[in-house]
Amino acid sequence: MTRAADILVVGAGMAGASLAAALAGKARVILLEAEDQPGYHSTGRSAAFWSESYGGPLIQPLTSASGLFLAAPPADFSDRPFLSRRGAIHLAGRGDRQALDDLAGQFATVPLERMGRAALEAAIPGLRPGWDFGLGEPSCADIDVAALHAAYLRQARRAGVELVTGARVEAAEREDGSWRVRTPAGDFEGDILVDAAGAWADDLARRCGETQIGIIPYRRTVAQLRVDPPAPSGLPLVIDAAENFYFKPEAGGRLWLSPHDETPSEPCDCAVEELDVAIAIDRLQKVVDWRIERVERRWAGLRSFAPDRLPVYGFSPSGRGFFWCAGQGGFGIQTAPAAADLAAALLLGGASAVDPAPYSAARFAI
Ligand SMILES: Cc1cc2nc3c(=O)[nH]c(=O)nc-3n(C[C@H](O)[C@H](O)[C@H](O)COP(=O)(O)OP(=O)(O)OC[C@H]3O[C@@H](n4cnc5c(N)ncnc54)[C@H](O)[C@@H]3O)c2cc1C
Repeated sequence: MTRAADILVVGAGMAGASLAAALAGKARVILLEAEDQPGYHSTGRSAAFWSESYGGPLIQPLTSASGLFLAAPPADFSDRPFLSRRGAIHLAGRGDRQALDDLAGQFATVPLERMGRAALEAAIPGLRPGWDFGLGEPSCADIDVAALHAAYLRQARRAGVELVTGARVEAAEREDGSWRVRTPAGDFEGDILVDAAGAWADDLARRCGETQIGIIPYRRTVAQLRVDPPAPSGLPLVIDAAENFYFKPEAGGRLWLSPHDETPSEPCDCAVEELDVAIAIDRLQKVVDWRIERVERRWAGLRSFAPDRLPVYGFSPSGRGFFWCAGQGGFGIQTAPAAADLAAALLLGGASAVDPAPYSAARFAI
């Protein structure tokens, strides 16, 4: 039996789940997820921070608009905020000072504060000599990613969205103004197909007979360390201005550390390369004098970017009812609420808080 809806959303990570929740009750929606667990891929592997400067000035409007929702969600969505204050420091030595100046000059509305050596030493105990320049970003916060994703899925289901797991879309055809898709969990039909397939966004487009955009997944590694002394719980997120590392504290004095790697990959269930963990530790040891006691956990996930590193929200110019919701790179969690509103407005008609023009799929039309 073929199950039918107005809109088939393919992929139930943060992008697909948040969009399904935004559409719920306004259209008949089926959410198709390849894995048994939604959130198994990039969404379950993030570093879980919200930073208005992250991703650049054209990502900032989506991040800032999302921050309002994440800090104070409606009571029927969540009884607690998804953000908790962390603060961030963009750190530089003399050679990378220009990178801090460039960052400071990009944002008119994001509070960024110059920090000198004394303020940096107070904020980052054990800071080694040479790291003399900083830009504080006090509004940076941690995000409770699992709770946010679960809340979106809950809201979607409550308003009638059907979530089908184990439903990898293997083939899709457009016939008589409708999509017909085949999955191991059955066949489905819908007027519109939304591509929220994360690292598989281009692969899904190909299966649908659409022109690919050139969305490339890149591997990013995170290691959870035990350090001595334990990482203070009030430590801010520390990001290297030259983009060679970032670290932030985790419960129990642990540290999350990334070498800021960006290795092109096939879409896959990606695994850690031990060399990336070793590089991360080497870089950390050049920043602080902490002893590394052990690596407790390590993981890697894919961050998928369009060629211009902006996300893609909008109908394909093909006119076949194929809608892109892809290319969320390293900011797909912190931008999810505003991006879902924007995509829902484009799908259903209506206004969104953020201008959709920079993210249009038409920018790739030849
Ligand atoms: C190490 C790391 C750190 C990060 N840190 C942050 C951070 O601090 N803040 C932030 O905002 N973002 C961060 N990100 C980025 C963020 O995780 C992603 O932008 C976001 O999770 C993307 O969500 P998604 O739903 O597009 O992708 P995914 O979560 O990967 O979901 C896509 C889903 O589509 C499914 N799928 C694929 N093909 C098919 C098909 N043919 N049929 C059915 N289903 C299919 C997959 O199974 C998958 O579940 C980080 C990412 C990584 C890897």
